[in-house]
Amino acid sequence: MTTLTIVVPCHNEEAVLPETSQRLLTLLGALHEQGKVAADSHVVFVDDGSHDSTWTLIEDLAAREPRIRGLKLSRNYGHQNALLAGLMTVEGDAVISVDADLQDDLSVIEEMVSTYDKGTDIVYGVRSTRDVDSLFKRLSAVMYYKLLNWMGVDVVFNHADYRLLSRRSLEALKEYSEVNLFLRGLIPTLGFPSSIVSYERHERFAGESKYPLHKMLGLAIDGVTSFSAFPLRLIAGLGVFVFLISMGFSVWVLWTRVFTDNAVPGWASSVLPMYLLGGIQLFSIGVLGEYISKVYMETKRRPRYIIEKSV
Ligand code: UDP
Ligand code: MG
Repeated sequence: MTTLTIVVPCHNEEAVLPETSQRLLTLLGALHEQGKVAADSHVVFVDDGSHDSTWTLIEDLAAREPRIRGLKLSRNYGHQNALLAGLMTVEGDAVISVDADLQDDLSVIEEMVSTYDKGTDIVYGVRSTRDVDSLFKRLSAVMYYKLLNWMGVDVVFNHADYRLLSRRSLEALKEYSEVNLFLRGLIPTLGFPSSIVSYERHERFAGESKYPLHKMLGLAIDGVTSFSAFPLRLIAGLGVFVFLISMGFSVWVLWTRVFTDNAVPGWASSVLPMYLLGGIQLFSIGVLGEYISKVYMETKRRPRYIIEKSV
């Protein structure tokens, strides 16, 4: 029978942890009774440098309940790295990653496990609706997924980090050593048989979102720069385009100068291109810088997380 591990990254989640652990334990109990998962299936909470009582809560839970374990990272490494820390250390046949805040419907875990039993290595949880998200978040998400697809990055639409991974896909994931983690782009590149289950996303059970805009932007940029060199090509293409335009422009200027009398020294024709080209150049340098900073971080080969202790 499948030993299932559920990995839950937690950053300042004291408000939701008791409820989350209760629901996960009930679920594991029910699945075990139905003969779907083994008795030693368990939950691993990864404390990603919380400032509140999250770790104390995890320790208490783990002391009372053998099916609960905890991993404490030495500081805040961010959601993707906390998740990775959990995935890389767990034992068991299959692992499901889920957020601590109960926004993802836990009842589809049963469907994930039966899909896995039929021989599927990766089961993506996909949101069927995003009603609870703000209009801004919904629109930006749609545009972002479209942009990624357009650049040739293979992502599952409306899938975040709620998914089941088999043992062999975890082992394959260990071969990837990149520091700029964007797991939802990485997992499809493993190539194992995969499938989708849909669910409705709920409101956060309690507490505030731990993903402020700047963290979301960081993740979004990682998603592009870690998987696609398209922006670099775009810059080169833009350069060629501007060059061709300016060639045509030069011909026109020369022609006016030589063959007509209306060669007025133009202010617009010299100042406008300056602003335009200045803008394009600055933007292009920014994009280059973004890639160089990624190379810089990767060459350091720093650890992606450090585990302080575990229970
Ligand atoms: N999280 C984390 N480290 C961070 C930020 C978030 O481990 O630096 C966890 C958080 O505790 C939650 C999950 O990542 O379990 C998703 O965060 P959240 O629900 O706040 O994001 P949202 O759903 O608002 O996008
Ligand atoms: Mg959430």
